[in-house]
Amino acid sequence: MDYGFDEDQEAYRQTVRRFATTVLAPHYQSDDKTATFRRQQARDMAAMGLTGLRIPTEHGGQEATAVIAGIATEEVGRADFNATYLIINTALISDIIVRNATPQQQAAWLPGIASGETVPCICITEPGHGTDAASLELKAVRTDTGWTLHGEKTSITLGMASDRGVVLARTGGPGARGVSAFWVDLHHPTVTRSAFDDLGSRAIGRASLHFDGTPVEDGDLIGAEGGGFVSVMQGFDYSRAIIGLGCIGAAEASLDEALQWSRDRVAFGQPIGTFQGVAFPLAECATYLKGARHICLEALWRKDNGLEHSAEAAMAKFWAPKLAAEVIHQCLLTIGHVAYSSEAPIGQRLRDVIGLEIGDGTAQVSKLVISRHLLGREFAP
Ligand SMILES: Cc1cc2nc3c(=O)[nH]c(=O)nc-3n(C[C@H](O)[C@H](O)[C@H](O)COP(=O)(O)OP(=O)(O)OC[C@H]3O[C@@H](n4cnc5c(N)ncnc54)[C@H](O)[C@@H]3O)c2cc1C
Repeated sequence: MDYGFDEDQEAYRQTVRRFATTVLAPHYQSDDKTATFRRQQARDMAAMGLTGLRIPTEHGGQEATAVIAGIATEEVGRADFNATYLIINTALISDIIVRNATPQQQAAWLPGIASGETVPCICITEPGHGTDAASLELKAVRTDTGWTLHGEKTSITLGMASDRGVVLARTGGPGARGVSAFWVDLHHPTVTRSAFDDLGSRAIGRASLHFDGTPVEDGDLIGAEGGGFVSVMQGFDYSRAIIGLGCIGAAEASLDEALQWSRDRVAFGQPIGTFQGVAFPLAECATYLKGARHICLEALWRKDNGLEHSAEAAMAKFWAPKLAAEVIHQCLLTIGHVAYSSEAPIGQRLRDVIGLEIGDGTAQVSKLVISRHLLGREFAP
């Protein structure tokens, strides 16, 4: 067995850390205050290859392994947790397009994602259907040249900023088999958007999107008609482990700050790190983070090696965001009142990571996947 990154992976990790520290981190708190997604961020990340990680080189991407995408997400998560959403969206959507779209569609759509010119989103959730996504209602009505879309999507990451969306719509009967996926131009005048006033991750502009007869052509259908639900959901296996690493990155940054504080802060004549009441919770945080990080990386390594990885990805998704929130909370308490101020990034990290205890599927959904794996489908349908 080999538990370390190889030389190339380690060099890449350091390169992304330098970029994230110098280019992304300075905007983490100011973007939260203005609640805006900056186009420049997409351009900067694209220049580093971070929006094209899973895109073939012939379409301007990096054709990176899943493990490399995870390394990038963890390092970006340390510096600017909200920037990880762009990696997650572009990686997940590129994977869906590469696996399901025709060569002509790939050639038309992927270069814009890789270059950062097309900011994409994924539109599944509706006001009436979150976890039970297979019951979605947004309707695709057949026309001579394609379809028109009618209905509402909600809770869409980068929904205010996105140029294009993978939109799941009902083209047939009830259930998953009646759902198709479309690549939709979100600048069409029939699309209107409204932003959420969120607790955290304010920079990603989570939004509701209303489709009032939005036209899509035959050539905008991704994969087979009626195959959209399965093709989109397959991508989540992999994105869940990436999400885990982004959350762990935010927690690791907080732990680094708490450890430094414990060395420097003096109380009762000695550094507070010498008190076991301070040191032991941090030792526990480091231990749990290491465990969760291993699960995330194992899921990605399994994917890269063509091995079954759904259970590991589900473990990563339910544990890592929850653990990150607990670790960041503990680190905030260790630093004390200084960390409670909005001038410190740590309180924002706590608000931010909680969002991914819900986004991309709740812990209950992940535990259903794990239970099926452990017990068999008949016990956890
Ligand atoms: C930060 C953020 C980003 C998001 N980004 C996107 C995005 O880009 N695109 C998109 O389409 N959606 C996105 N979402 C929406 C997200 O996918 C949904 O919120 C999620 O699937 C849960 O749906 P819901 O919130 O409607 O909760 P519900 O489905 O109403 O569930 C409510 C509660 O009931 C539990 N529950 C439901 N069914 C079961 C069951 N069978 N067994 C046990 N418990 C159950 C859930 O776990 C949850 O705790 C995002 C959400 C957040 C918070």
